[in-house]
Amino acid sequence: VSSPTDLRLGTRFADELPELAVRWQAEEAPEPQLVVLNEPLAAELGLDPRWLRSEAGVRLLVGAEVPDGATPVAQGYAGHQFGGYSPRLGDGRALLLGELTDPAGRVRDLHLKGSGRTPWARGGDGLAGLGPMLREHVVSEAMHTLGIPTTRSLAVVATGRGVRREQVLPGAVLARVASSHLRVGSFQYARATGDDDLLRRLADHAIARHHPAARDAGPAGAAYVALLEGVVEAQARLVAQWMLVGFVHGVMNTDNMTISGESIDYGPCAFLDAYDPATVFSSIDEGGRYAYRNQPAAAQWNLARLAEALLPLIDADEERAVETATRSLQGFATTYADAFTADAAAKLGLPAGLDRAVVASLVEDLLALMAAARVDHTSFFRALGDAARGDVEGVRGVVLDLPGLDAWLERWRGLGPDAEAMDRVNPVYIPRNHLVEQALDAATAGDLAPLHRLLEAVTAPYDERPGLAAYAEPGPAGAGPYVTFC
Ligand code: AMP
Ligand code: MG
Ligand code: MG
Repeated sequence: VSSPTDLRLGTRFADELPELAVRWQAEEAPEPQLVVLNEPLAAELGLDPRWLRSEAGVRLLVGAEVPDGATPVAQGYAGHQFGGYSPRLGDGRALLLGELTDPAGRVRDLHLKGSGRTPWARGGDGLAGLGPMLREHVVSEAMHTLGIPTTRSLAVVATGRGVRREQVLPGAVLARVASSHLRVGSFQYARATGDDDLLRRLADHAIARHHPAARDAGPAGAAYVALLEGVVEAQARLVAQWMLVGFVHGVMNTDNMTISGESIDYGPCAFLDAYDPATVFSSIDEGGRYAYRNQPAAAQWNLARLAEALLPLIDADEERAVETATRSLQGFATTYADAFTADAAAKLGLPAGLDRAVVASLVEDLLALMAAARVDHTSFFRALGDAARGDVEGVRGVVLDLPGLDAWLERWRGLGPDAEAMDRVNPVYIPRNHLVEQALDAATAGDLAPLHRLLEAVTAPYDERPGLAAYAEPGPAGAGPYVTFC
Protein backbone atom coordinates (compact mmCIF):
# COMPACT_ATOMS: atom_id res chain seq x y z
CA VAL A 1 0.00 0.00 0.00
CA SER A 2 1.52 3.30 -1.04
CA SER A 3 -1.41 5.68 -1.30
CA PRO A 4 -4.65 6.40 0.57
CA THR A 5 -6.68 5.04 -2.35
CA ASP A 6 -4.93 1.66 -2.01
CA LEU A 7 -5.62 1.48 1.70
CA ARG A 8 -8.74 -0.52 2.52
CA LEU A 9 -9.94 -0.19 6.07
CA GLY A 10 -12.73 -2.47 7.19
CA THR A 11 -15.76 -1.15 9.08
CA ARG A 12 -16.88 -4.34 10.73
CA PHE A 13 -16.86 -2.96 14.28
CA ALA A 14 -18.81 0.14 13.24
CA ASP A 15 -21.27 -1.93 11.18
CA GLU A 16 -21.90 -4.73 13.66
CA LEU A 17 -21.88 -2.65 16.83
CA PRO A 18 -23.28 0.79 15.99
CA GLU A 19 -24.35 1.26 19.62
CA LEU A 20 -20.65 1.22 20.59
CA ALA A 21 -19.42 3.33 17.69
CA VAL A 22 -19.76 7.08 17.34
CA ARG A 23 -18.70 8.28 13.89
CA TRP A 24 -16.15 10.99 14.44
CA GLN A 25 -13.17 12.71 12.94
CA ALA A 26 -9.78 13.78 14.21
CA GLU A 27 -9.12 17.38 15.16
CA GLU A 28 -6.94 19.28 12.71
CA ALA A 29 -3.21 19.18 13.60
CA PRO A 30 -1.69 22.61 12.88
CA GLU A 31 1.75 21.33 11.92
CA PRO A 32 2.07 17.55 11.76
CA GLN A 33 5.60 16.22 11.93
CA LEU A 34 6.57 12.58 11.96
CA VAL A 35 8.71 11.89 15.04
CA VAL A 36 9.12 8.15 14.82
CA LEU A 37 7.96 5.51 12.35
CA ASN A 38 8.02 1.78 13.03
CA GLU A 39 9.28 0.54 9.67
CA PRO A 40 9.28 -3.19 10.48
CA LEU A 41 5.64 -2.94 11.59
CA ALA A 42 4.73 -0.88 8.51
CA ALA A 43 6.23 -3.63 6.36
CA GLU A 44 4.37 -6.31 8.30
CA LEU A 45 1.13 -4.42 7.62
CA GLY A 46 1.92 -4.07 3.93
CA LEU A 47 2.27 -0.27 4.20
CA ASP A 48 5.07 1.41 2.25
CA PRO A 49 7.29 3.27 4.77
CA ARG A 50 8.26 5.85 2.13
CA TRP A 51 4.61 6.72 1.64
CA LEU A 52 4.01 6.92 5.39
CA ARG A 53 6.91 9.36 5.64
CA SER A 54 5.47 11.57 2.87
CA GLU A 55 3.12 14.46 3.57
CA ALA A 56 0.12 12.35 2.53
CA GLY A 57 1.22 9.46 4.72
CA VAL A 58 1.67 11.71 7.76
CA ARG A 59 -1.80 13.15 7.12
CA LEU A 60 -3.17 9.62 7.41
CA LEU A 61 -1.21 9.01 10.63
CA VAL A 62 -2.79 12.06 12.33
CA GLY A 63 -6.27 11.41 11.00
CA ALA A 64 -6.35 14.43 8.66
CA GLU A 65 -6.84 12.08 5.70
CA VAL A 66 -9.39 9.29 5.90
CA PRO A 67 -9.12 6.58 3.23
CA ASP A 68 -12.15 6.12 0.97
CA GLY A 69 -14.75 3.88 2.53
CA ALA A 70 -13.34 4.11 6.06
CA THR A 71 -15.57 5.30 8.92
CA PRO A 72 -13.51 6.40 11.92
CA VAL A 73 -15.37 5.92 15.19
CA ALA A 74 -14.88 6.67 18.87
CA GLN A 75 -15.61 3.44 20.72
CA GLY A 76 -17.86 3.32 23.73
CA TYR A 77 -16.99 1.34 26.82
CA ALA A 78 -17.47 1.41 30.57
CA GLY A 79 -14.97 0.47 33.24
CA HIS A 80 -14.05 -0.07 36.84
CA GLN A 81 -11.34 2.45 37.62
CA PHE A 82 -9.49 1.53 40.83
CA GLY A 83 -12.55 -0.48 41.78
CA GLY A 84 -15.14 2.27 41.17
CA TYR A 85 -17.55 1.80 38.28
CA SER A 86 -17.83 4.42 35.51
CA PRO A 87 -20.68 3.58 33.17
CA ARG A 88 -19.52 5.93 30.41
CA LEU A 89 -15.85 6.06 29.56
CA GLY A 90 -15.16 5.41 25.89
CA ASP A 91 -12.50 6.83 23.58
CA GLY A 92 -12.28 10.37 24.92
CA ARG A 93 -9.20 11.15 22.85
CA ALA A 94 -8.92 8.24 20.45
CA LEU A 95 -10.43 6.94 17.23
CA LEU A 96 -10.65 3.58 15.54
CA LEU A 97 -9.81 4.35 11.90
CA GLY A 98 -10.80 0.87 10.81
CA GLU A 99 -9.64 -2.70 10.40
CA LEU A 100 -6.66 -3.44 8.26
CA THR A 101 -6.04 -6.89 6.81
CA ASP A 102 -2.30 -7.44 6.55
CA PRO A 103 -0.66 -9.43 3.73
CA ALA A 104 -0.69 -12.52 5.97
CA GLY A 105 -4.47 -12.19 6.33
CA ARG A 106 -4.44 -11.02 9.95
CA VAL A 107 -7.04 -8.40 10.80
CA ARG A 108 -5.82 -5.52 12.98
CA ASP A 109 -7.24 -2.28 14.23
CA LEU A 110 -5.63 0.94 13.08
CA HIS A 111 -6.30 3.43 15.84
CA LEU A 112 -5.26 6.97 16.78
CA LYS A 113 -4.66 8.24 20.29
CA GLY A 114 -4.45 11.97 21.04
CA SER A 115 -6.53 12.92 18.01
CA GLY A 116 -8.85 15.42 19.75
CA ARG A 117 -11.98 15.47 21.86
CA THR A 118 -14.82 13.08 21.11
CA PRO A 119 -18.34 12.82 22.55
CA TRP A 120 -16.81 10.58 25.27
CA ALA A 121 -14.26 13.19 26.37
CA ARG A 122 -16.09 14.45 29.49
CA GLY A 123 -13.72 17.04 31.03
CA GLY A 124 -10.68 15.92 29.03
CA ASP A 125 -9.00 17.96 26.30
CA GLY A 126 -8.76 15.03 23.89
CA LEU A 127 -5.03 15.51 23.52
CA ALA A 128 -1.84 13.65 24.34
CA GLY A 129 1.68 14.87 25.05
CA LEU A 130 4.63 13.83 22.92
CA GLY A 131 6.46 12.29 25.91
CA PRO A 132 3.65 9.94 26.95
CA MET A 133 3.04 8.83 23.35
CA LEU A 134 6.75 8.11 22.91
CA ARG A 135 6.66 6.14 26.17
CA GLU A 136 3.92 3.97 24.69
CA HIS A 137 5.96 3.57 21.51
CA VAL A 138 9.11 2.49 23.36
CA VAL A 139 7.45 0.23 25.90
CA SER A 140 5.07 -1.49 23.50
CA GLU A 141 7.86 -2.22 21.02
CA ALA A 142 10.04 -3.52 23.87
CA MET A 143 7.22 -5.77 25.07
CA HIS A 144 6.71 -7.05 21.53
CA THR A 145 10.36 -8.01 21.08
CA LEU A 146 10.28 -9.66 24.50
CA GLY A 147 7.57 -11.92 23.10
CA ILE A 148 4.80 -10.43 25.24
CA PRO A 149 1.43 -9.92 23.51
CA THR A 150 0.83 -6.20 23.13
CA THR A 151 -0.69 -3.47 21.05
CA ARG A 152 1.93 -1.98 18.72
CA SER A 153 2.95 1.53 17.81
CA LEU A 154 3.13 2.30 14.10
CA ALA A 155 4.13 5.94 14.50
CA VAL A 156 4.16 9.02 16.66
CA VAL A 157 3.42 12.33 14.96
CA ALA A 158 3.88 15.67 16.71
CA THR A 159 0.86 17.87 16.03
CA GLY A 160 2.37 21.32 16.47
CA ARG A 161 -0.26 22.03 19.12
CA GLY A 162 0.59 22.62 22.75
CA VAL A 163 -1.04 20.47 25.42
CA ARG A 164 -1.67 22.03 28.80
CA ARG A 165 -0.59 19.74 31.64
CA GLU A 166 1.52 20.91 34.64
CA GLN A 167 3.48 22.62 31.91
CA VAL A 168 2.62 23.11 28.25
CA LEU A 169 3.88 20.05 26.37
CA PRO A 170 4.20 19.47 22.66
CA GLY A 171 1.16 17.48 21.49
CA ALA A 172 1.30 14.23 19.56
CA VAL A 173 -0.82 11.51 18.03
CA LEU A 174 0.08 7.84 18.38
CA ALA A 175 -0.96 5.52 15.53
CA ARG A 176 -1.67 2.26 17.33
CA VAL A 177 -2.17 -1.21 15.90
CA ALA A 178 -3.96 -3.89 17.89
CA SER A 179 -5.61 -7.19 17.19
CA SER A 180 -8.65 -5.26 18.44
CA HIS A 181 -9.58 -2.64 21.00
CA LEU A 182 -12.29 -4.72 22.65
CA ARG A 183 -11.96 -4.52 26.40
CA VAL A 184 -13.61 -5.96 29.47
CA GLY A 185 -15.20 -2.51 29.71
CA SER A 186 -16.79 -2.94 26.26
CA PHE A 187 -18.76 -5.88 27.66
CA GLN A 188 -19.64 -3.99 30.83
CA TYR A 189 -21.04 -1.19 28.67
CA ALA A 190 -23.09 -3.54 26.49
CA ARG A 191 -24.42 -5.41 29.52
CA ALA A 192 -25.42 -2.17 31.25
CA THR A 193 -27.64 -1.20 28.31
CA GLY A 194 -29.82 -4.19 29.18
CA ASP A 195 -29.90 -5.06 25.48
CA ASP A 196 -29.04 -8.76 25.25
CA ASP A 197 -28.99 -8.60 21.48
CA LEU A 198 -26.18 -6.01 21.59
CA LEU A 199 -24.33 -8.12 24.16
CA ARG A 200 -24.64 -11.18 21.92
CA ARG A 201 -23.44 -9.28 18.84
CA LEU A 202 -20.45 -8.01 20.81
CA ALA A 203 -19.62 -11.50 22.06
CA ASP A 204 -20.00 -12.96 18.55
CA HIS A 205 -17.75 -10.22 17.19
CA ALA A 206 -15.13 -11.00 19.87
CA ILE A 207 -15.35 -14.73 19.15
CA ALA A 208 -14.86 -14.14 15.43
CA ARG A 209 -11.84 -11.93 15.98
CA HIS A 210 -10.07 -13.59 18.87
CA HIS A 211 -11.38 -16.95 19.87
CA PRO A 212 -12.85 -18.50 16.70
CA ALA A 213 -12.64 -21.98 18.19
CA ALA A 214 -15.26 -20.91 20.77
CA ARG A 215 -17.89 -20.84 18.02
CA ASP A 216 -17.72 -24.60 17.73
CA ALA A 217 -17.96 -25.15 21.46
CA GLY A 218 -21.50 -26.51 21.27
CA PRO A 219 -25.05 -25.45 21.90
CA ALA A 220 -26.50 -22.29 23.41
CA GLY A 221 -24.26 -20.74 26.07
CA ALA A 222 -21.26 -22.99 25.43
CA ALA A 223 -19.72 -20.63 22.88
CA TYR A 224 -19.84 -17.77 25.38
CA VAL A 225 -18.38 -19.89 28.16
CA ALA A 226 -15.60 -20.79 25.74
CA LEU A 227 -15.10 -17.09 25.00
CA LEU A 228 -14.80 -16.34 28.71
CA GLU A 229 -12.37 -19.20 29.15
CA GLY A 230 -10.34 -18.02 26.17
CA VAL A 231 -9.98 -14.56 27.68
CA VAL A 232 -9.19 -15.98 31.13
CA GLU A 233 -6.46 -18.13 29.65
CA ALA A 234 -4.96 -15.36 27.49
CA GLN A 235 -4.89 -12.91 30.40
CA ALA A 236 -3.44 -15.45 32.84
CA ARG A 237 -0.61 -16.16 30.42
CA LEU A 238 -0.07 -12.47 29.77
CA VAL A 239 0.17 -11.47 33.42
CA ALA A 240 2.58 -14.35 34.09
CA GLN A 241 4.82 -12.86 31.41
CA TRP A 242 4.53 -9.39 32.94
CA MET A 243 5.57 -10.74 36.32
CA LEU A 244 8.62 -12.54 34.97
CA VAL A 245 9.91 -9.52 33.08
CA GLY A 246 9.23 -7.23 36.06
CA PHE A 247 6.55 -5.15 34.33
CA VAL A 248 4.14 -3.06 36.38
CA HIS A 249 1.18 -1.88 34.29
CA GLY A 250 0.03 0.63 36.85
CA VAL A 251 -3.59 1.11 35.77
CA MET A 252 -5.25 -2.26 35.35
CA ASN A 253 -8.76 -0.87 35.18
CA THR A 254 -11.30 -2.99 33.33
CA ASP A 255 -11.27 -0.53 30.44
CA ASN A 256 -7.55 -1.21 30.08
CA MET A 257 -7.83 -5.00 29.85
CA THR A 258 -8.25 -6.47 26.39
CA ILE A 259 -10.31 -9.41 25.21
CA SER A 260 -7.45 -10.41 22.89
CA GLY A 261 -4.93 -10.87 25.71
CA GLU A 262 -2.70 -8.05 24.46
CA SER A 263 -1.24 -5.55 26.92
CA ILE A 264 -2.77 -2.13 26.32
CA ASP A 265 -2.47 1.49 27.48
CA TYR A 266 1.04 2.23 28.60
CA GLY A 267 0.38 5.17 30.89
CA PRO A 268 2.00 5.02 34.32
CA CYS A 269 3.71 1.69 33.61
CA ALA A 270 7.31 0.96 34.54
CA PHE A 271 9.73 -1.93 35.00
CA LEU A 272 11.20 -3.14 38.28
CA ASP A 273 14.80 -2.37 38.93
CA ALA A 274 15.09 -3.73 42.47
CA TYR A 275 13.05 -6.88 42.93
CA ASP A 276 10.52 -5.80 45.52
CA PRO A 277 7.07 -7.37 45.12
CA ALA A 278 5.38 -4.39 46.83
CA THR A 279 6.57 -1.97 44.14
CA VAL A 280 4.11 0.72 42.99
CA PHE A 281 5.24 3.38 40.52
CA SER A 282 2.06 5.29 39.71
CA SER A 283 1.42 8.51 41.61
CA ILE A 284 -2.34 7.93 41.44
CA ASP A 285 -2.23 4.36 42.80
CA GLU A 286 -2.25 5.50 46.40
CA GLY A 287 -3.57 2.25 47.86
CA GLY A 288 -1.19 0.09 45.85
CA ARG A 289 -4.12 -1.70 44.21
CA TYR A 290 -2.01 -2.33 41.12
CA ALA A 291 1.30 -3.03 42.87
CA TYR A 292 3.58 -5.53 41.11
CA ARG A 293 2.54 -8.44 43.31
CA ASN A 294 -1.18 -7.65 43.06
CA GLN A 295 -1.34 -7.92 39.27
CA PRO A 296 -2.53 -11.53 39.05
CA ALA A 297 -5.31 -10.84 41.56
CA ALA A 298 -6.24 -7.60 39.78
CA ALA A 299 -6.49 -9.46 36.48
CA GLN A 300 -8.69 -12.10 38.04
CA TRP A 301 -10.92 -9.43 39.58
CA ASN A 302 -11.33 -7.82 36.14
CA LEU A 303 -12.16 -11.17 34.58
CA ALA A 304 -14.88 -11.64 37.17
CA ARG A 305 -16.39 -8.37 35.87
CA LEU A 306 -16.26 -9.84 32.35
CA ALA A 307 -17.96 -13.00 33.58
CA GLU A 308 -20.73 -10.94 35.21
CA ALA A 309 -21.29 -9.07 31.97
CA LEU A 310 -21.59 -12.34 30.03
CA LEU A 311 -24.04 -14.04 32.42
CA PRO A 312 -27.20 -13.54 30.33
CA LEU A 313 -25.49 -15.26 27.39
CA ILE A 314 -24.13 -18.14 29.43
CA ASP A 315 -27.41 -19.48 30.75
CA ALA A 316 -30.97 -18.15 30.93
CA ASP A 317 -31.09 -19.50 34.47
CA GLU A 318 -29.08 -17.02 36.48
CA GLU A 319 -28.01 -19.39 39.21
CA ARG A 320 -26.70 -21.90 36.69
CA ALA A 321 -24.98 -19.10 34.77
CA VAL A 322 -23.18 -17.95 37.90
CA GLU A 323 -22.09 -21.49 38.70
CA THR A 324 -20.73 -22.05 35.20
CA ALA A 325 -18.95 -18.68 35.07
CA THR A 326 -17.41 -19.25 38.49
CA ARG A 327 -15.98 -22.55 37.32
CA SER A 328 -14.49 -20.85 34.26
CA LEU A 329 -12.92 -18.15 36.40
CA GLN A 330 -11.30 -20.76 38.58
CA GLY A 331 -9.22 -21.69 35.53
CA PHE A 332 -7.26 -18.48 36.05
CA ALA A 333 -5.29 -19.74 39.04
CA THR A 334 -4.16 -22.98 37.41
CA THR A 335 -3.37 -21.42 34.03
CA TYR A 336 -1.46 -18.63 35.74
CA ALA A 337 0.53 -21.03 37.94
CA ASP A 338 1.31 -23.30 34.97
CA ALA A 339 2.40 -20.39 32.77
CA PHE A 340 4.44 -18.76 35.51
CA THR A 341 6.22 -21.98 36.38
CA ALA A 342 6.90 -22.89 32.75
CA ASP A 343 8.19 -19.41 31.90
CA ALA A 344 10.29 -19.29 35.09
CA ALA A 345 11.74 -22.72 34.26
CA ALA A 346 12.78 -21.31 30.87
CA LYS A 347 14.42 -18.30 32.58
CA LEU A 348 16.36 -20.76 34.72
CA GLY A 349 17.40 -22.78 31.67
CA LEU A 350 15.81 -25.93 33.05
CA PRO A 351 15.18 -28.95 30.86
CA ALA A 352 11.58 -29.88 30.01
CA GLY A 353 9.84 -32.65 31.86
CA LEU A 354 10.96 -31.81 35.40
CA ASP A 355 8.54 -32.31 38.25
CA ARG A 356 6.31 -29.23 38.55
CA ALA A 357 6.65 -29.04 42.34
CA VAL A 358 10.45 -29.20 42.16
CA VAL A 359 10.53 -26.28 39.73
CA ALA A 360 7.95 -24.26 41.66
CA SER A 361 9.84 -24.52 44.95
CA LEU A 362 13.14 -23.71 43.24
CA VAL A 363 11.60 -20.56 41.76
CA GLU A 364 9.98 -19.56 45.02
CA ASP A 365 13.23 -19.89 46.95
CA LEU A 366 15.13 -17.88 44.36
CA LEU A 367 12.59 -15.06 44.45
CA ALA A 368 12.88 -14.94 48.24
CA LEU A 369 16.66 -14.54 48.00
CA MET A 370 16.21 -11.84 45.33
CA ALA A 371 13.64 -9.93 47.38
CA ALA A 372 15.69 -10.04 50.58
CA ALA A 373 18.57 -8.32 48.79
CA ARG A 374 16.42 -6.17 46.44
CA VAL A 375 18.61 -7.33 43.56
CA ASP A 376 18.21 -5.77 40.15
CA HIS A 377 15.64 -8.06 38.52
CA THR A 378 16.78 -7.98 34.90
CA SER A 379 20.55 -8.11 35.34
CA PHE A 380 20.26 -10.78 38.04
CA PHE A 381 18.56 -13.27 35.71
CA ARG A 382 21.12 -12.51 33.04
CA ALA A 383 23.94 -13.07 35.56
CA LEU A 384 22.41 -16.44 36.41
CA GLY A 385 23.27 -17.44 32.85
CA ASP A 386 26.91 -16.80 33.71
CA ALA A 387 26.44 -18.84 36.89
CA ALA A 388 25.19 -21.73 34.74
CA ARG A 389 28.53 -21.48 32.92
CA GLY A 390 30.38 -21.65 36.24
CA ASP A 391 30.97 -17.95 36.83
CA VAL A 392 29.05 -17.24 40.03
CA GLU A 393 30.70 -13.91 40.89
CA GLY A 394 27.89 -11.82 39.37
CA VAL A 395 25.11 -13.40 41.40
CA ARG A 396 27.23 -13.82 44.56
CA GLY A 397 28.09 -10.12 44.41
CA VAL A 398 24.50 -8.97 44.91
CA VAL A 399 22.76 -11.50 47.14
CA LEU A 400 23.10 -11.04 50.91
CA ASP A 401 22.44 -14.57 52.13
CA LEU A 402 25.46 -16.29 50.58
CA PRO A 403 25.05 -19.68 52.25
CA GLY A 404 21.42 -19.61 51.11
CA LEU A 405 22.43 -18.68 47.57
CA ASP A 406 25.16 -21.29 47.38
CA ALA A 407 22.76 -23.99 48.50
CA TRP A 408 20.25 -22.80 45.93
CA LEU A 409 22.87 -22.74 43.16
CA GLU A 410 23.84 -26.29 43.96
CA ARG A 411 20.26 -27.52 43.76
CA TRP A 412 19.74 -25.67 40.49
CA ARG A 413 22.96 -26.74 38.84
CA GLY A 414 22.14 -30.31 39.75
CA LEU A 415 19.19 -30.03 37.36
CA GLY A 416 21.48 -29.19 34.43
CA PRO A 417 20.57 -25.62 33.38
CA ASP A 418 21.35 -24.63 29.80
CA ALA A 419 23.17 -21.27 29.80
CA GLU A 420 22.72 -20.61 26.08
CA ALA A 421 18.97 -21.17 26.35
CA MET A 422 18.88 -18.74 29.28
CA ASP A 423 20.54 -16.02 27.21
CA ARG A 424 17.78 -16.38 24.65
CA VAL A 425 15.03 -15.60 27.18
CA ASN A 426 16.63 -13.32 29.79
CA PRO A 427 16.92 -9.83 28.31
CA VAL A 428 20.00 -7.66 28.75
CA TYR A 429 18.00 -4.55 27.86
CA ILE A 430 14.58 -3.46 29.07
CA PRO A 431 13.23 0.10 28.98
CA ARG A 432 14.93 1.18 32.20
CA ASN A 433 12.93 3.92 33.87
CA HIS A 434 15.72 6.47 34.03
CA LEU A 435 16.62 5.87 30.38
CA VAL A 436 13.02 6.19 29.24
CA GLU A 437 12.72 9.45 31.17
CA GLN A 438 15.96 10.75 29.69
CA ALA A 439 14.93 9.81 26.14
CA LEU A 440 11.48 11.41 26.46
CA ASP A 441 12.89 14.60 27.99
CA ALA A 442 15.44 14.91 25.20
CA ALA A 443 12.81 14.20 22.52
CA THR A 444 10.48 16.80 24.03
CA ALA A 445 13.36 19.28 23.79
CA GLY A 446 13.93 18.32 20.14
CA ASP A 447 16.80 15.81 20.43
CA LEU A 448 15.78 12.38 19.16
CA ALA A 449 19.19 10.72 19.47
CA PRO A 450 18.66 9.21 22.98
CA LEU A 451 15.23 7.86 21.90
CA HIS A 452 16.72 6.09 18.89
CA ARG A 453 19.56 4.69 20.97
CA LEU A 454 17.11 3.37 23.55
CA LEU A 455 15.01 1.82 20.79
CA GLU A 456 18.14 0.22 19.36
CA ALA A 457 18.81 -1.40 22.76
CA VAL A 458 15.30 -2.60 23.59
CA THR A 459 14.36 -3.87 20.14
CA ALA A 460 17.21 -6.42 20.26
CA PRO A 461 17.01 -7.16 23.98
CA TYR A 462 18.91 -10.47 24.19
CA ASP A 463 21.89 -9.45 22.12
CA GLU A 464 24.50 -7.88 24.41
CA ARG A 465 26.45 -5.07 22.76
CA PRO A 466 29.49 -3.41 24.38
CA GLY A 467 28.51 0.05 23.14
CA LEU A 468 25.22 -0.18 25.04
CA ALA A 469 26.65 -1.17 28.44
CA ALA A 470 24.97 1.75 30.22
CA TYR A 471 21.58 0.49 28.96
CA ALA A 472 22.00 -2.77 30.86
CA GLU A 473 22.43 -1.14 34.24
CA PRO A 474 19.95 -0.09 36.90
CA GLY A 475 19.32 3.59 37.49
CA PRO A 476 21.65 5.58 39.70
CA ALA A 477 21.31 4.76 43.38
CA GLY A 478 19.99 7.53 45.57
CA ALA A 479 17.58 8.84 42.92
CA GLY A 480 14.73 7.90 45.30
CA PRO A 481 11.72 5.81 44.37
CA TYR A 482 10.64 6.20 40.75
CA VAL A 483 7.20 7.80 40.33
CA THR A 484 5.13 7.77 37.15
CA PHE A 485 2.31 10.12 36.15
CA CYS A 486 -0.37 9.61 33.53
P1 AMP B 1 -6.97 5.62 30.68
O1 AMP B 1 -7.16 5.01 32.04
O2 AMP B 1 -5.79 6.55 30.59
O3 AMP B 1 -6.91 4.59 29.63
O4 AMP B 1 -8.23 6.54 30.36
C1 AMP B 1 -9.46 6.44 30.99
C2 AMP B 1 -10.51 7.21 30.25
O5 AMP B 1 -10.20 8.62 30.20
C3 AMP B 1 -10.71 6.78 28.81
O6 AMP B 1 -12.09 6.86 28.56
C4 AMP B 1 -9.95 7.83 28.03
O7 AMP B 1 -10.44 7.98 26.72
C5 AMP B 1 -10.20 9.08 28.86
N1 AMP B 1 -9.14 10.09 28.70
C6 AMP B 1 -7.88 10.04 29.17
N2 AMP B 1 -7.22 11.17 28.87
C7 AMP B 1 -8.06 11.96 28.18
C8 AMP B 1 -7.99 13.26 27.59
N3 AMP B 1 -6.86 13.99 27.64
N4 AMP B 1 -9.07 13.74 26.97
C9 AMP B 1 -10.21 13.03 26.91
N5 AMP B 1 -10.37 11.83 27.43
C10 AMP B 1 -9.31 11.28 28.08
MG1 MG C 1 -7.50 3.28 28.52
MG1 MG D 1 -4.16 6.08 29.09
